[in-house]
Amino acid sequence: MVTRGEALYRGKVKTIYRTDDENVFIAEFHDDLTAFDGKKKSSLEKKGYYNAKISEKLFRLLESNGIPTHFKDMLSETEMLVDAVQIIPIEVIVRNIAAGSITRKYPVEEGRKLVPPVVVLDYKSDEHGDPMINEDIAVAMGIASMDELGLMRRLALEINQVLIKFLDERGLVLPDFKLEFGRSKKDGRIILADEISADTCRFWDKETGESLDKDVFRNDLGDVGSVYQEIARRIVSEIS
Ligand code: UDP
Repeated sequence: MVTRGEALYRGKVKTIYRTDDENVFIAEFHDDLTAFDGKKKSSLEKKGYYNAKISEKLFRLLESNGIPTHFKDMLSETEMLVDAVQIIPIEVIVRNIAAGSITRKYPVEEGRKLVPPVVVLDYKSDEHGDPMINEDIAVAMGIASMDELGLMRRLALEINQVLIKFLDERGLVLPDFKLEFGRSKKDGRIILADEISADTCRFWDKETGESLDKDVFRNDLGDVGSVYQEIARRIVSEIS
């Protein structure tokens, strides 16, 4: 049995705890919801549970497809046991269909298919407003090596293919999503970390085009609680 230690990092929607094993952390999913760099805030009963369930399911799916992730096990309904990593401060965003910021920054209309899929890197820095970054800047800043960045890009595109197929079988399309990678404390390997959930992906119903993700909260599109429950049920069939 793992013993939960001090909080290492309190994020907007998760807290990371140390454990008695230096190579293992606990990620606890909260019920808080934030958008627009924390300017819009709310809390939603069971949201932490739904996102933990979605993340668990998708991490297990990716592991079974040969993608290395930090996922180890669930400790409770909202606590995930993960490999300790040092997070690389880059958001790797994969886009299959234009939505969100790409439609604001470029003359690309929402709903346009992006072929081949687009991978964008954003530097995680609230102070600088998460600016887009490229490989050369990341290497020059000492954030990651060119090899590591190449691996992150390849893994992101592989993950995209696995997720597209899985979600398609559940009547869902995946316009875009965000990944974070880390260096394993145990062996320095690059592995997928953070979460994959309704907070970090756009999920649209294949038939109706309806949003089943955080956009419902961001843009006041409907009852956020029932949308998180619905997407969790679609992705994790065991949820009643
Ligand atoms: N995303 C995220 N965290 C961020 C920024 C983006 O999880 O800090 C996800 C977001 O949910 C979406 C994708 O990355 O699935 C692309 O987001 P976008 O750049 O369009 O930003 P937005 O328009 O949502 O502000």
